[in-house]
Parts: sequence; C-alpha cells; structure tokens
Amino acid sequence: MSRSDKYPKLVVDLDKLRRNIDRIRIQCEDKGVEIAGVIKGCTGLTECARQFAREGCRFIASSRLEQLETLRSSGIQTQLMMIRVPMLSEVADVVRVTDISLNSEIAVLKALNEEAGAQDKEHQVILMVDLGDLREGFWDKDELLEAALLTENELHNLKLAGIGTNLGCYGAVAATPEKLEELVERAEMIEEKIGRELEFISGGATSTLPRIWEDNLPSRINLLRIGEGILLAADLQELWGYDMSFMHRDVFTLRAEVIEVKEKPSHPVGEIMFDAFGAKPEYEDRGMRRRALLALGKVDYAFCDQLIPRDEGVAILGASSDHTILDIQDAARSIQVGDVLEFIPHYSNLVYLTSSPNIQIVYI
Ligand SMILES: *Cc1c(COP(=O)(O)O)cnc(C)c1O
Repeated sequence: MSRSDKYPKLVVDLDKLRRNIDRIRIQCEDKGVEIAGVIKGCTGLTECARQFAREGCRFIASSRLEQLETLRSSGIQTQLMMIRVPMLSEVADVVRVTDISLNSEIAVLKALNEEAGAQDKEHQVILMVDLGDLREGFWDKDELLEAALLTENELHNLKLAGIGTNLGCYGAVAATPEKLEELVERAEMIEEKIGRELEFISGGATSTLPRIWEDNLPSRINLLRIGEGILLAADLQELWGYDMSFMHRDVFTLRAEVIEVKEKPSHPVGEIMFDAFGAKPEYEDRGMRRRALLALGKVDYAFCDQLIPRDEGVAILGASSDHTILDIQDAARSIQVGDVLEFIPHYSNLVYLTSSPNIQIVYI
C-alpha cells in the first residue's frame, strides 16, 4: 500500500487557504489594518505558514515557541510573533527565535532585555492590556504605564512596539467598538508620557473582524492577529451569524476509512455502566439502525460532536479513543467497508488532528 492510500488523513487545500488569507488581508488593509497570521490552530504546519508569508501578512504568530522555531529554520522571512506571554524559562529562546512578543509581566520584560543584550539583538514587545476577558494582560493602568516607561527608558535592548488586547477567549467578552476605544485610550496615555506614537495597537483576533465589516473599528487600531477566521471561517458564521460565504470553509478536510458496517440496535443491550472515558451516557432507542465504524477516534480529534460529516444523512453517534461510530441509516449513498468518508473539522478538532501522529497530512 502506497503512502497516499493511508488513512486517516487530513487534506489541506493550500490554494483555498491562500485565497482566505488574501480576502481577509485586503479587507483589513482597506481600513489601515495589518495582519498577524496565527498558525497555532493547525499546530504551525510549515506549508500553511508559508502561505501566510506569501500573501503578505505582517507577522506570523503562534502561542508555541517550538512551532515558530520550526518556521525560523524553514527559511520563512516574515517576522515571527510569540503571542502567548513567555515563560521566564524560555526568554532566551523567545529572543533567539522570534522578532516580537506579547507581554504582561515586568520580570519577563527585564529578562527579555537581558537576553536581547546577550544575543546582541533588539527584541520588540507589545504590552497586553486586559480589558475584562480576564486572561493575559495588565489590569492596573499604573502598572501598565510603569511597564511601558521602563521598557521605553531603561530596557534598551527592547523596543516598545505597541500595546494589544485579547478578547473573547476566557471571559467571552465581545470586541465592541467601546472596548477597543478603551485600548486606544490606554495607548494614548502611554504615548503622552513617552512623547511618541506607538507603532502598533493590536485590537484582538478573529472576533474583532466584524468591526472591519461594520466599519466601526477605532481608526488607531492597526493590527489584528487572525487564526480561526482564516483557517476555518466557521465561528463568525455559526456563533455570530455573519455571512462567511465569501470564505472557503473547507481548507481542511478529514478523510477516514470505514472498517465495519452492520445493522445494530441503537440502544446498548445490557446493564449500562460507564463508557471508555468514565462517563455514564444516555442513549436514544431508535430501533435497529445501520451503523458504520471509522478507524479513528478521540485521540485524533478530541470532540466527535464538532466534526461535520460531508455525506448527507450521516450522523456521528459517538467515539472512543480509536473508533468513531456513525449512524448511516439515512445516508444518501450506500456506504461499504473500505469506503472513505469526509468530515470538516472545527478549531477544537484541528488542533488535535494536526498534532496526532496517526493522521497523515497531505497538501493539494
Ligand atoms: C489564539 C490567539 C489569537 C488568534 O485567535 P483566533 O480566534 O484564532 O483568530 C490572537 N491573539 C492571541 C493572544 C491568541 O492567543
């Protein structure tokens, strides 16, 4: 069996990815906004990152240093951005591998400065402001100002490139025009004290894109860090109701092989105790149904309810570590052992699929 016949596999359509990047980049560019292409959603796949570089993103960004390190050695010339605030223990590598990082701790800024000096480099920093989503960032205005002044005036191997915020991650706080105005206010507070304009005001991620479309992004915001909205373009449509039909929703397609097809009862037979993950699920009795098993499972994609079958009439019933169970009673086509079925992954699936050693990744 040749490698290309092996399943499960994740098919990545680089042309569609490029077109997605291009569309969002042009929309943002029209409003004076540059893009950091965030590639952590696909575990930093080099081929994907290359498309972000090719389409003229200002930065390529990830929350994982190892992913950026791989890109650094791949010859990609675009500046690399570390978007998870660094561990103190990794500052040497942050300086060595990346050009710019998001930061929220003075101790880390000092350590970055020292390392940048040791490596004879200038490292750019964006200070993160927490506007209520309650993940990373300075909450206290005075502490933010202190960090900015310290970076500007004393940490000579760092360049205070700007400030940024993150919304819609932990606290599910929306990137409203008002929230983003608060970010601009913080920037202007710093600018007044340092006597110059900051280069970047980074107003969030995919969840800020509606501000571009509705033309209500505060004009000083000039950098967005976009991952999901380009890679999958699903959330803004499904959760927020925006029409994303101008984007390709199938950059990534999962292909998996059927290993069993049988008529079975839809309700388990026997005393119901615990499933493979220690849960005590409930099952609907729909009588005898035609079912199929796929040769992949939760270790590959984590959440079976997030996968979207491409075949009409196919439903995912559940999964264990290495098996996925389908109802194919109402499938529009006849499904046999050895057939290959396709699924569109959500973000939560994609992060697992692209890091599972069981999944072969192929590019078209
Ligand atoms: C993941 C992440 C992003 C990108 O988020 P998307 O919703 O995928 O666009 C941007 N900024 C930070 C700090 C992140 O951690």
